[in-house]
Amino acid sequence: TKHFPVRRKLRDLFSNRKDVVHAVDDVHLVLRRGKVVALVGESGSGKSTIARLLAQLYPRTGGDIQLHGETTKVKGGSAFRRYCSQVQMIFQDPFASLNPTHTIRYHLTRSLKIHGNAGTTEADLEQALRDLLQQVQLTPPERYLDKFPHELSGGQRQRVAIARALGAQPEALLADEPVSMLDVSIRLGVLNLLRDLRDRLDLAILYITHDIASARYFADETMVMYAGRMVEGGDSETLTQSPAHPYTRLLIDSAPDPDRLAGAADAGGADAGNGEPPSLIHPPTGCRFHPRCPVAMERCRTELPVPLEIGDAPGHWAACWLYDREEVAK
Ligand code: SF4
Ligand code: MG
Repeated sequence: TKHFPVRRKLRDLFSNRKDVVHAVDDVHLVLRRGKVVALVGESGSGKSTIARLLAQLYPRTGGDIQLHGETTKVKGGSAFRRYCSQVQMIFQDPFASLNPTHTIRYHLTRSLKIHGNAGTTEADLEQALRDLLQQVQLTPPERYLDKFPHELSGGQRQRVAIARALGAQPEALLADEPVSMLDVSIRLGVLNLLRDLRDRLDLAILYITHDIASARYFADETMVMYAGRMVEGGDSETLTQSPAHPYTRLLIDSAPDPDRLAGAADAGGADAGNGEPPSLIHPPTGCRFHPRCPVAMERCRTELPVPLEIGDAPGHWAACWLYDREEVAK
């Protein structure tokens, strides 16, 4: 596993505040119920690390994670346990995340029991299992309950992984490239399921992807990461129609075909375009994108850009010196 030495501050996972303040140096992310936030970037940009930090799978070296304004301490305590059941993770590879020696019934029962949602009787449990499979549209449930993971298709396995997460009755799902290993033809179905769950269960969803076209399709809000930093954020429509940061523009220009939506993920997506992502161990000084940026200025080599409002839509910002008022005035 790659070491991720970038200073991290993760604040306000859930916040009641309407206004999102983007910290200057830090990763700052707010998830709200009923909304999907996409985190887009190429491999090595740190997006999976953020998901794992938020899922409490990595120990934090700094920063803050809050649920409903309450800071979660690292490991142990009731706030930590509550957090871990309310924030569930879905991994890229559903085959790796399910135990091949156990049935679907076992996986879902375990999730329901761990999180105290199995009821008191056998009949309660049976009903809860059926409800979970129905929620992910694996019906009739009896067709799936006693199967093993290898007897299901990739898309069905990812649906089981989602059902297992729902067994915790979470408020938030952290979905790390949930469709990128699936056949192109079934990606849209899984994204549509997640969107349906967002609405029916009022879930907050963090959708991690290297495919900006699918972010536009699926997410209410999109944040773009480059080399461990957030470089642009805003509502997905604005950000993809009027990208401000040169890196976001590169991502959009190198997406193979905007109409392919979720299908673009296998065709390079964020990894396309000129140049290589920088090392996070010795990142470039100033703007980390400056070695690849076609419009880099002198100051970009030394000065770290601060997030600046773009002004075309509320909440649209970019960390790029092009939007500094003094540069604009020149
Ligand atoms: Fe390019 Fe400078 Fe903007 Fe960085 S700050 S993206 S180098 S123009
Ligand atoms: Mg990853």
